[in-house]
Amino acid sequence: MSAAQFEEIGRALRENERFAVLGHVRPDGDALGSQLGLGLCLKQLGKDVRIWNEDGMLQKYSFLPRANLLTKPPVPPEDVDVAIALDTAIQNRLGTTLSAIRSAKVWINIDHHPSNPGYGDIVYIDPTSPATGQILFELIKNQKLALDREIAENLYVAISTDTGSFQYPNTTERTFEIAAELVRAGVNVGRVSRQVYENFPRRRVELLRELLGTMRFDGNGRVGSFSLSLKTARELGVIPEDNEGLIDHLRAIRGVVVAVFFEELADGKVRVSMRSKSEDVDVCAICEKFGGGGHKLAAGARVRGTLADVEKRVLEAICGVVGCDS
Ligand code: 5GP
Ligand code: MN
Repeated sequence: MSAAQFEEIGRALRENERFAVLGHVRPDGDALGSQLGLGLCLKQLGKDVRIWNEDGMLQKYSFLPRANLLTKPPVPPEDVDVAIALDTAIQNRLGTTLSAIRSAKVWINIDHHPSNPGYGDIVYIDPTSPATGQILFELIKNQKLALDREIAENLYVAISTDTGSFQYPNTTERTFEIAAELVRAGVNVGRVSRQVYENFPRRRVELLRELLGTMRFDGNGRVGSFSLSLKTARELGVIPEDNEGLIDHLRAIRGVVVAVFFEELADGKVRVSMRSKSEDVDVCAICEKFGGGGHKLAAGARVRGTLADVEKRVLEAICGVVGCDS
């Protein structure tokens, strides 16, 4: 990725008026923080900005500065000059925000997923970056865009959540340098961390209790998984955002190389979420076999079938890679 691409994106931001900043369905901290961070930057340039996500703002991220600017897309589609997809590996993961754009003169695609095919007119994909928020920081610096406390805090949350709080191997020297610059720009680390990591509803822990009850291990403890049925989800009143991060309880177990979370969905599919702790086990490649994607160490897919059927097929595929017979 080169400075010339930042220059091209910077020009598109400066020379147009109406913007839509979009992110993927079932957003995480990187999608929401990146959308708000860039959206606020555009507002500082005096632009007319829409910040849309199919799911709207999640309860757990509603503390983000100016969170109310991020909304569900409107039903009648709108015309914009520039539509920007952030953190979205394939275009259809923009969900209903895609159909809310009737026309856009330019599509910009900024992402860090290696599986992103590069849709759009101006494409900036850096798979070495741990978060889309980190790429936006580099864009802001390179193009001398605004970086006030509100923008900084949104980008900090984007980076912190996608690096598992600066722990995953995708965290680089540069990530810490950027974090330092964001703190210098006004991020209150203690307050933000409390909001992100110590403010879960009790329901989420009750969900964890249920999941641990379904926990199983394959391949001599190298594969750890648990699953959530629709019935349990309904009984507990689970909302999708409750799931984020629960798979880390499996990942954290000694000996586990691949962690898997199966979630039965209402549409006859099962959402599969996968994590790897080994550079030798590429879970993105496994998920791609089931029509999904993501990163080498964190990937997912939505697979048609019953919970039991999908569990069986996916665990077999994982065993084919890590070898469950020994
Ligand atoms: P998570 O397990 O947190 O939902 O997702 C982990 C990673 O896998 C994310 O980077 C996400 O982009 C990717 N991912 C999750 N689900 C899907 C999916 O259904 N399709 C694709 N292509 N990627 C997914
Ligand atoms: Mn991301």
